[in-house]
Amino acid sequence: MTERIIPIADARYHAAVPPVPDAPAAPVGHLEDARGRRLHDLRISVTDRCNFRCTYCMPKAVFDKDYRFLPQSSLLSFEEITRLVRIFIGHGVEKIRLTGGEPLLRKDLHRLIAMLSPLRTARGAPLDLTLTTNGSLLTRKAQALRDAGLQRVTVSLDALDDRAFRAMNDVDFPVSDVLAGIEAADRAGLAPLKINMVVKRGVNDHEIVPMVRHFRGTGHIVRFIEFMDVGASNGWRLDDVVPSADVIERIRAVFPLEPIDPNYPGEVAERWRLRDGSGEIGVISSVTQPFCGSCTRARLSTEGRLYTCLFAIGGHDLRALLRGGCDDAAISGALAALWQARSDRYSEIRASNTTDLRRIEMSYIGG
Ligand code: SAM
Ligand code: SF4
Ligand code: SF4
Repeated sequence: MTERIIPIADARYHAAVPPVPDAPAAPVGHLEDARGRRLHDLRISVTDRCNFRCTYCMPKAVFDKDYRFLPQSSLLSFEEITRLVRIFIGHGVEKIRLTGGEPLLRKDLHRLIAMLSPLRTARGAPLDLTLTTNGSLLTRKAQALRDAGLQRVTVSLDALDDRAFRAMNDVDFPVSDVLAGIEAADRAGLAPLKINMVVKRGVNDHEIVPMVRHFRGTGHIVRFIEFMDVGASNGWRLDDVVPSADVIERIRAVFPLEPIDPNYPGEVAERWRLRDGSGEIGVISSVTQPFCGSCTRARLSTEGRLYTCLFAIGGHDLRALLRGGCDDAAISGALAALWQARSDRYSEIRASNTTDLRRIEMSYIGG
């Protein structure tokens, strides 16, 4: 029998405590990295746990009963998250996405929403606050999230066909419950929803056109995402990727499409409109058309590590600063130095890098 070594997540990935500058400059609501990209979006993972085992994200062979998730004491508290968000806002962050694991598994998540939703950006506007979920708990939680101030949700849905959906989530979860969750979110006022579908060749690509057909006329926007080589456990192969250009061709053969302008410069999804006016779709081409040049995202892990790229192998331990008695000015200064030094552009140079097994997992950092 081969012996398995199961490290706990705290020790699994490398994280350095960022140095605190002696005399940190006050934040000015704008911060650029070494490639001139500003700090604009922050994705916050609120749990590393999930009730699904999507084969491309948390394969059962790795995330089994012996897998050790983070202990409760490691997690950032809602107060710690809110304190960090204020500091990020000082540097120009305007968009916050809560993610996971499955964010709705985090107890009382609506309390965090209620703490974040009154915050204002450095320019005095409301924060763009949203959440990505697998939808399984939305029927129960949509209204409380909305009441706490959440504006929108993105629901991941990889197939409408129940058999294909159960095979992809690998826990036999029925698609009807996710569809009911989408309706509950719509009724609660979290619309229009974005519906994200990760496309894997030979697994769910036959669902591309049915997905467009199902959601046209609802106002919800389906976005097709190229399967990415994130993490080290999903057995990624380039052959499994259906390029977005093919996705568009397949849809176009049934529903004529025309391109639409981005909502803002550097938007990750490429937008298309159904010519008959019945809906909008999007494609996210992380593999075939990397968008590192306009990547303005930072990611905060469940236990408070900052990652400046989805494909980073090292994080920066902000929790150590929070719990080590640093004041906001010191943490703000440390964050500024980290972002200013950032030069990541993994997707542009992916070919030479796909075999590094220390890369963080999507379920750890939240996509
Ligand atoms: N559990 C929530 C969910 O599924 O929406 C939030 C976390 S999940 C990691 C965030 C997003 O990452 C989901 O839309 C998921 O489909 C996507 N994702 C996970 N692994 C991926 C991969 N290898 N390539 C592309 N997208 C992936
Ligand atoms: Fe869970 Fe989301 Fe990953 Fe699926 S994609 S295993 S729902 S975290
Ligand atoms: Fe941003 Fe890294 Fe993705 Fe490039 S590879 S778009 S830098 S997260």
